[in-house]
Amino acid sequence: MPNVSGHTELVGLMAYPIRHTQSPTTHNLAYDWLGCDVIQLAFEVDNDTLKDSVQAIRSLKMLGSNISMPNKTVVHQYLDEVDPAAQLCGAINTVVNTRDEKGEVSGYLKGYNTDGAGYWQAVKEEGIDIKGMKMVLIGTGGAATAIAAVGALSGLAELHIFNIQDKFYARGEEMAAKINESTECKATMNDLADKDLLKKLMQEADIFCDATGVGMHPLEDLTNIPDTSFFRPDLIVTDTVYAPRETVMMKQAKEAGCTKVYNGIGMMLFQALIAIEKYTLKPITPELITYMKQQLGI
Ligand code: NAD
Repeated sequence: MPNVSGHTELVGLMAYPIRHTQSPTTHNLAYDWLGCDVIQLAFEVDNDTLKDSVQAIRSLKMLGSNISMPNKTVVHQYLDEVDPAAQLCGAINTVVNTRDEKGEVSGYLKGYNTDGAGYWQAVKEEGIDIKGMKMVLIGTGGAATAIAAVGALSGLAELHIFNIQDKFYARGEEMAAKINESTECKATMNDLADKDLLKKLMQEADIFCDATGVGMHPLEDLTNIPDTSFFRPDLIVTDTVYAPRETVMMKQAKEAGCTKVYNGIGMMLFQALIAIEKYTLKPITPELITYMKQQLGI
């Protein structure tokens, strides 16, 4: 932990509930290693107190703030600018107090979503180039839409989204329409009940992601994939879940002979590091990544 002094700069985390969060542990380890006199603290902020809390980023000259539920989809109205990927997925998890020409915080607040960038950075770290790839993605919630938005803006050729017919389904239809209108990526929205279509598209895909949380408590014994025949051995298989480290779906993929199978830990680490880079303007180095993985037991 840094020695807090009169010079220490503040990064927030605004959400409710928030006391369970691991974010300050991750951020403060990184600030310490980077030699930054910065500390992150978590604040209980809901939709009623969000406007004043965002204004406090300006008035207290904070470096910025992480934003989590229930504020991710409403915070944009209090900001000066929103990054294109965050606009496309309709959610912001990082607010940066941008710097002026002297390097001082300017009070001009810009919103980002680092979940999608974090997922794709973790994929890139495995030596995988997304350009021209075909993806099958299950889920249309917060994690899935962030992954879809950054994927579509970063060179995916095709994105086939599947979801169950619940309240999230319409969000997937909107997402696919927006991607088709505003990016080069061809997107489709499909019913997860259509397992023949899911199997066909998984056979043709380069990369697969389950971003539903199926495989995590209380759904830890479940998988969205009926059997191992859905996986081709050269399919890249990813899950956004990181506890447990291996979901039932990941076990199925390994049984089918897939060798590139990844859980959500990389996404979790890189969404934090990308935000930290934006707050401190210090680059993410391989040494920092190694240090953080050691410290977090990854
Ligand atoms: P969310 O509630 O916004 O979305 C949940 C999605 O799962 C929806 O599409 C919903 O329709 C679908 N779903 C729910 N129950 C289902 C079921 N029984 N069968 C099939 N589909 C079902 O959640 P979220 O914030 O997008 O999180 C999803 C998962 O991603 C969680 O496990 C979360 O922990 C994980 N996540 C990981 C990271 C990371 O950094 N690794 C970041 C964000 C979220």
